[in-house]
Amino acid sequence: MIDLHLHTTASDGTCTPEELVWRAHAAGVTVMSVTDHDTTAGVKGASQAASACGLECVPGIEITAVWNGRDVHVLGYFVDPASPTLQAFLDAQRQDRIRRLRRMGARLAALGAPVDVEAVLLDVAGRPHRAVGRPRLAAALVAAGHVASPQEAFERYLGDGCPAFVPREGASPEEVIALIGRAGGIASLAHPGLLGHDELIPGLVRAGLAAIEAYYARHPPETVRWYCHLAARHGLAVSGGSDFHGDGSRDGALGTCGLPPEAFADLCSRRVSGPGSRAPR
Ligand code: AMP
Ligand code: ZN
Ligand code: FE
Ligand code: FE
Repeated sequence: MIDLHLHTTASDGTCTPEELVWRAHAAGVTVMSVTDHDTTAGVKGASQAASACGLECVPGIEITAVWNGRDVHVLGYFVDPASPTLQAFLDAQRQDRIRRLRRMGARLAALGAPVDVEAVLLDVAGRPHRAVGRPRLAAALVAAGHVASPQEAFERYLGDGCPAFVPREGASPEEVIALIGRAGGIASLAHPGLLGHDELIPGLVRAGLAAIEAYYARHPPETVRWYCHLAARHGLAVSGGSDFHGDGSRDGALGTCGLPPEAFADLCSRRVSGPGSRAPR
């Protein structure tokens, strides 16, 4: 099983990088990638734990870009976490995440569903490499008794276009693709079936997109087929994974959605830094 879309406690997953590797190993995963939102803080721990149990771990990231006021998730593979350009960009993204949570907190208070945003942010106060996001506000809304579940928090308050939603400002998907390239990586458009804007793809291809995430736990089989077809039409590779965030989340379970080995080989061949080479661990 090749699972190239996984989250850890470095962003909004519930497993530490090490726990994630052990669990992935137990679930039959042989190649994995930690793709946290706007941080590579989990990559090193995962790579070390992975080599200890014989798993291949591709350095990864999931960067939130903005297009027409909407979030567009762009995956980066084989990026060099030491790239200063990448890290400066990610620092700014994480600062913006904090500002956004504060603004969403103010909206929640105005809507009669106050939560202690500063308490939420305390968790990252001494850990600037951690990326906070809406799931933390969802958990705070549950804890405060305003909603019964994180799902309800997104449906009533936090989801795109909902009353407490604050649109993002930030880099375009094209800029993010270029940035990933500068950090030695290749970019894949995350869960295009959830995005639902295929008209974006030709422009992203011109910007250097290498792949689209056709294999995805929440893509029905016909959606997987559609994006494999679209990838072939545009000369792109495909990527894939579960988007596992932890037990009980709406995303895929570990080891339930994988990328076929030949598709992974094709993805690897798109690296510009040399045939078959792997980024340093
Ligand atoms: P953010 O990074 O702040 O934009 O928050 C986006 C994250 O929130 C996603 O990556 C998911 O992990 C989570 N999320 C988004 N929509 C929902 C939803 N409807 N229910 C539960 N979690 C969600
Ligand atoms: Zn997430
Ligand atoms: Fe995503
Ligand atoms: Fe994800």
